[in-house]
Amino acid sequence: MSDHRPVLVIHGGAGTIAQNQDDPGEARYHAALADILAAGAACLADGGSALDAVSVAVDLLEECPLFNAGHGAVFTSAETHELDAALMDGATLRAGAVAGVARVRRPGRAARAVMEAGEHVLMAGAGAEAFARQHGLEMVEPDFFSTEARRDQLRRARAAGQVALDHDAASGPLDETRKFGTVGAVALDRDGHLAALTSTGGMTNKRPGRIGDSPLIGAGTYADDRTAAISCTGTGEAFIRVAAAHDVCARMAYGGQDLAAAARAVVEDALPAVGGRGGLIAVDARGRVAMPFNTEGMYRGVVRPGEAPTTAIFGESRRVPAPAR
Ligand code: ASP
Repeated sequence: MSDHRPVLVIHGGAGTIAQNQDDPGEARYHAALADILAAGAACLADGGSALDAVSVAVDLLEECPLFNAGHGAVFTSAETHELDAALMDGATLRAGAVAGVARVRRPGRAARAVMEAGEHVLMAGAGAEAFARQHGLEMVEPDFFSTEARRDQLRRARAAGQVALDHDAASGPLDETRKFGTVGAVALDRDGHLAALTSTGGMTNKRPGRIGDSPLIGAGTYADDRTAAISCTGTGEAFIRVAAAHDVCARMAYGGQDLAAAARAVVEDALPAVGGRGGLIAVDARGRVAMPFNTEGMYRGVVRPGEAPTTAIFGESRRVPAPAR
């Protein structure tokens, strides 16, 4: 059964347009997204699974200094780092996730190791780090993730009394103080299987111990071959409250909505109803793609093997969230 046309979709966070619209950084973001898509497409073209393709893409997104996951992760209010990641296999509904890790270089790989071990789904803190070490993953000192730009961001967030802000290490087209920096990937492989992977440093100035939506299966990450694979980015608390990623799949499964309608309903209705800002990327079992967001922009891109990648930052659905209830 190798008749599906593979596709890979990635995101590098959502946010607000920078005040300096002439920022030359935009081209660098497009180039970085395109390179990462090309690597993932090569994996799919070689017969790689959806799980492998999202792993390749998130590995590169985590290591890319333009995106806030891995090196360049944001600071908590205690000037520490706490990284989260989750992976889900749509074929089997197996999943793995880590939360609040500070010493694992590539949290996306740790999530995969948790899934492959099969005993647990979500591991946190020191136990998750010990697990990663036991499974031979590369460990680093916590300051590996620190950058001066992130420290400046923490100072600004503290001065403004803000908790839910994120920024990127380098200047870019999305406002550094109002961009959500999670990275993620979803894919369909030629056997018709789906996978989703999300990795994040969380939010600047978050309290130590705070866990967002990214590592929570059903909130920030979900995949089910019968419906779709989803990876979210935005104000994590709202995504948790509406079980955003699973809600897309549920609307398709129970409500008969197609992917575009289901994804739009979550991003334009369900999330704004609880003050949620951000977006998601999604691919369904037929290879259709949706990438809605309710912020000014979202770094994103799509590739199908044999075709040039397409990347975007702005455009698409822009809608101001309704007041929180
Ligand atoms: N959703 C992430 C969180 O709440 C943040 C992000 O998307 O940048 O931790």
